[in-house]
Formats: sequence, C-alpha cells, structure tokens
Amino acid sequence: MSIAHNLGFPRIGVHRELKRMVESYWKGTLERESLLEQARALRQRHWQLQADAGLAMLPVGDFAWYDHVLDHSLMFGVVPERFGAGDPLDLYFRMARGRAPSGQDALACEMTKWFDTNYHYIVPEFSATQTFTLAATPLLEQMSEAQALGHPVRPVLLGPVSYLWLGKSRSGDRLDLLEDLLEVYAELLDRLRAAGAEWVQIDEPVLVQDLSAAWQEAFRQACRKLAGQGPKRLLCTYFGGLEENLALVLESPMEGLHLDRVRGKDALPRVLEGIGADMVLSLGVVDGRNIWRCDLDAALRELQTTHQALGERLWVGPSCSLLHVPVDLQAETGLDAELQSWLAFATQKLDEIATLARLLEGGTAADQQYLEGSRAALRSRQASPRTHNAEVRARIAAITPQMYRRQSPYPERAARQRAQLQLPAFPTTTIGSFPQTAEIRRARRSYKNNELGEAEYRQQLQAEISKTIKVQEELGLDVLVHGEAERNDMVEYFGEQLAGFAFTSNGWVQSYGSRCVKPPVIYGDVSRPQPMTVDWIRYAQAQTDKPVKGMLTGPITILCWSFCRNDLERAEVCRQIALALRDEVQDLEQAGTPMIQIDEPAIREGLPLRRSRWQAYLDWAVQCFRLSACPVRDDTQIHTHMCYSEFNDIIRAIAELDADVITIESARSGMELLEVFRDFHYPNDIGPGVYDIHSPLVPETGQIRSLLEQAAERIPAERLWVNPDCGLKTRDWPETRAALANMVAAARALRG
Ligand code: GLN
Ligand code: ZN
Repeated sequence: MSIAHNLGFPRIGVHRELKRMVESYWKGTLERESLLEQARALRQRHWQLQADAGLAMLPVGDFAWYDHVLDHSLMFGVVPERFGAGDPLDLYFRMARGRAPSGQDALACEMTKWFDTNYHYIVPEFSATQTFTLAATPLLEQMSEAQALGHPVRPVLLGPVSYLWLGKSRSGDRLDLLEDLLEVYAELLDRLRAAGAEWVQIDEPVLVQDLSAAWQEAFRQACRKLAGQGPKRLLCTYFGGLEENLALVLESPMEGLHLDRVRGKDALPRVLEGIGADMVLSLGVVDGRNIWRCDLDAALRELQTTHQALGERLWVGPSCSLLHVPVDLQAETGLDAELQSWLAFATQKLDEIATLARLLEGGTAADQQYLEGSRAALRSRQASPRTHNAEVRARIAAITPQMYRRQSPYPERAARQRAQLQLPAFPTTTIGSFPQTAEIRRARRSYKNNELGEAEYRQQLQAEISKTIKVQEELGLDVLVHGEAERNDMVEYFGEQLAGFAFTSNGWVQSYGSRCVKPPVIYGDVSRPQPMTVDWIRYAQAQTDKPVKGMLTGPITILCWSFCRNDLERAEVCRQIALALRDEVQDLEQAGTPMIQIDEPAIREGLPLRRSRWQAYLDWAVQCFRLSACPVRDDTQIHTHMCYSEFNDIIRAIAELDADVITIESARSGMELLEVFRDFHYPNDIGPGVYDIHSPLVPETGQIRSLLEQAAERIPAERLWVNPDCGLKTRDWPETRAALANMVAAARALRG
C-alpha cells in the first residue's frame, strides 16, 4: 500500500511551549536540565501524534531550539570566530541572538526570510578559511528518542546545495566550499545509516528557483557524492514546481523524490515518464502553507493516476513541512463552528494525509465517512453566503482605468502640495508609531477584555495622542503623526475592522526563534463596514497647526501577512482590500487630512520565487496600491513607507506606485539603497531612513547630516525628506526624543 508520511511538524507546541521554555531559560528562570526534559517531552508528543495518525515514518530533525538552518551550522562547525567556543547550547543561542546565559555577548548572526514564507532563518556565515567538522550528536540523540517510541524514523536534513545557497561568504564563491561540505554530509549519512535510518530526507528547496549552470552542476556533484552507502535518499522539493530543473532532478541518482503539488504545476506525465524504475515518488497534495481543508477528491484524482503507474512507489504527503501552519484546530476557541469546519491545521492535516493514502486502496468505512465529512465542509464553504458579497464583486467589476490614476502628474501635484503645505526644505517626519508603553498595552488589553469601557478607553488614548503630538511639536518636527497607540499590530488592527476576515485565538506560527505570529484568516469577500482610523486622526489634527499624516496599512501588506482564501486569486483578494482602503482614504481626505501614508513594508516579500513571474505580480501589486491611493485631490499628499531592505531590483515598480513621498529603510545598510539612484532617476519625493530604529543607540547629528549629504548627491535636495528607518513602537521615550532631536538638528543644519 502507498504510505502516508510527513516532511516536518511545527516545533513550537500547541501552547507555544517551546517559546515559554527557551525564554525562561534565557532569563535564567529555567534550569538546563528542565529545559532539556521539557523539549524531549514536546518532541515525543509530536511524534506520538504522527504515529497515532498512521504516518509511516517519523521525521527527526524538524525540531530546533531556534531555527533548523542554525542547527545545520552547528552540526557542520560553521561558527563565526567572534563567538569563540564554550557551552554548545549557549553558543547556539549566542549565534541566534547575541546573548545566552553563559559565554560572551557578540553580534548575532544575520537573519532573513526562508524563501517566500514568513519564517526567518539564521544565515550561515562562511569565513575565508572555512572548514567543516561534523557534530552529529544532537541529531543522533533525537533519533534514538524517536526510535524508542517503536516506529521507523527518518532524519530530515537541509541539503548541501540549499545550505550553501542560503549562506553568505565574506570572501570568495560559496561553491568553492562544496567539495569539503560534501565530505561531512557523506560522513553524516554513514552515521545515520549506522544509527538505523533506512531513509533520509534531503530538502533542496532551491530547486524550485532559477538556478545558474554553476548551481545546477553543484547539485549534480552533490548527488554523485552522496550516492552509495548511506540510507535511501528522499530528495524533497517544495514551495513551487521544478520546471526546467525537473530534468536535472530526474537524471539524479536518488531513491525518492518529493514534489509540491499545491504550488508546483510540473506535468505529471512528464514526471512519470522520467522517473527511475525503482524510485519512489512522493506527492505533496495537502497544503503545508495554508489552513484550508484539503479538497480530497481533487487530491485523490491526482494520486490515483500516479498510483496506477507506480503502485506502492507512490507516497502521500504534505506539500512542504507543516512548520508554516498552526498546530491544532482543536485548540481554537475564537472561531465560529462553520468557519472552523472549513479549516485544517497541522494535526488535522496528518489525518488528511493518512486517509488519502488509505483511500487509494478503497479505505475503511471510517475513511469513507471522513471523506463524506470533508466533502460536506467543502460544499458548505463553496455555497456559503459569507464568502461571497455581490456588492463587492460588482464594485470590482466596475473598476475603471481612471481609478488607478491621480488627477494630475506628480510635478503638478507637487507644486500644489508645496503651496498648500508650506514645508521647509528637508522636511522632517516619522514613520507612524511612537513608543508603545506598558500603560498603552494595558489599556488596549483591558478594553479588549471588556474591563475598560469605550469612553474611558477613548479618553486614555486621546491623552496619549495629545502627548505624542506635543512631544513632536517640542522637537520641531514638520509633519506629525498620531502615534498608532490604538494598534496592537499593523495588519490585525485593520483586519479586525474589515468584513471577510477572521481571527484565531491560538493559531500561532513561528516567525523567528521564540517569536510567533497569529496571521488573520481571509475567508470571504473583503469590505469596510465603517471608517477605521478617521476619528483618531481627526482628533490628532485638532491638537496642532502642523500637518498630521493619516496612517494606513496597504493592501499588499495586509494580504501578505494573512492566511489568504484559496478559492479566489490573490490579486482579486488584494483588489478587494484595496477598494476598502480606498474608501478610508476618501474619508480621511474629507475629514481634512492633508497627507495620508499607506505602508507597504511587505511589497518585496510577495515576489514570486521565479523571476519570470515577478512582473505579473508587480503589475497587480502596483495597481492595488494605486487603487487605494488615487481617489484624492492633487493637493492631498500620498506617502508610502517600505522597510526590510533590498529594494534595488524592484525600484521601477516602487516608482510606479506614484506616491508623492516615500520613506524607505536604508540606514542599516549604510545607504546602500542610494546606489540604485545612480542609474535610475527616482521621480518623486523620497526620505531615505537616516537612522536605524532597531538599535537602542542614539544617532549623532553629524552622522545623520553626513548620510543626508550623501543622499543629496543622488537625489535633488528639494525632493529629500528626513526621517528614521521605520516606526518607533519598540523604542522607549528617552531614546526616541534624543534621536529625533538630533535628526531635527541635522535637518536644520542642512537648511542653513
Ligand atoms: N507605520 C508603521 C509604524 O510606524 C510602519 C511599520 C512597518 O513599516 N513595519 O509602526
Ligand atoms: Zn518600516
């Protein structure tokens, strides 16, 4: 019979146990022995769950204290010199976050996004004299823990090509390290075999991206080197199709291949034709990136064709590791029963996988019943009036090209805005949020729990806004903000007020290390029942004669940071959000707001993994932003803000947003951003962030001034704004005041 298997289970625990234990350990309130014991118990629970669900092999190595890529760095001895040696676990935590209960503090390793997910990994840092040494004990220990449960286990490794590809070398080509790295992989495979692994899972997600000839060759070399003595190898690809890399993979001497059948569209007949005579083919038909129940009939159709060709050589799995979905729907208390019946979290997905495998052979009576239940849920979702709003559909159908355009081109608008706003040269502003103090958080929490009445809550927040406005006036800033005290999170705040969104009570997903996020669920057509920000902004504007910016999260960012419905194109969902925001923009203008900022920090992370699909995405993303931003008069100034770096390769699309002003992160990279303006003439106003808000250090006036002078070499001074890199909500008031005072002083010096 075809086996059911899993590529990885979320490691955080249904109640975020992993977060609790490591944070207590970092604080010194949990002993090492208890930490190890709690982690063992957590792993055991997850394995037991998978075994009980009927999965054939237990994945080992999907657990990580902080991040699985970092586990590999420690396993291969890729430890930058600045960390020295010391206790291995604390060394691991120092690399992740700069600090641990023992050992010297050091600058933490860089962290970045794992492909197109919202999970962040610790970037391997290769030195000029990098060598590799194997330290396999932690993995081998976990293997024996899992084996003790009496089930076959399968170690999970990040493959050598992906590992190198994800790393950074300060000197030279990473590929020069391949040969040495393959030696330790080979040694590791031998050890795993000796420890009783029949199969090993080798993840090579880079194969769903565009690979140069050199990287393709690296993959061939790795396959040759790792053939032979070790366990049988299941090559795992996910997050997309293989496309032109399919031939490369089919030629490679592997014992098994896993394909993502949710995001990948490689033609199955081609795969079946090319697959080796003894090779296993694993089809990832259950979505590991989203929370909707699987359409079992559609999955079965795909599986059955393959089953006819391959018989038992077909395996059934999730599209990718279940790391990217919450642990267990049973723990939900926040959703209504109907919506809940449409969803499957990691634990439920295990049942879907196991049932599909059994149904290939007809299944039991219980399986048939499960199938019926699943069909009923799908039908209820398809027919539900909650997912479909005729008014929204009609508005989308009635969008005209005019709605994507401002009334006049930027130069005319800029002239009107200048006349209207009367700002000095090098105008100073901030990105939106001000320090979120304990009192603010407390007020929000009490209000949410109905312990604080509407009127008192409003009063408290208004007092906070007045204070924030006053501070900004004292500092001499030119364009003020209300401070965002009412927002817990820049997406959640809007999602909670939009129709078509739902919020889980416990749907946590790991973002990085011990940090988890609870993405909103977009289940239906999106609309805005009433204004979302207007009262706060109107109140703020009434406190001052200086202009106050209205503050919104943009449609692309709201989309990217949510679990999106899978029954409507992402572009369509984004357009619906854009229309809702368009209404808000209009209401803000009507309330007398002279400037409106629409934040799009996530625009870059929405980029598809394949270059060839970038343009199509950028086209609709730009359209959606403009749909939100364009209903206003010429003299209303539209701002946008972007951060999380690396905008250089999408700068044209950023210019096409046609925002009057963009504030953009750049201080952290030492104004690397400015490089792009050598060849590309950015047409509108721009404020490259002049200091890094992620650091508690107060920037000096001279330092800021010199960054601005640097910027003025590339961007005409009359189009330059002065602002920090990002919002200030994570900072405290004293450092915020000091930093902004220096920033204003630098702008004034330049005006002189
Ligand atoms: N306006 C938001 C803030 O200042 C922007 C946050 C962001 O860019 N991530 O907090
Ligand atoms: Zn930002």
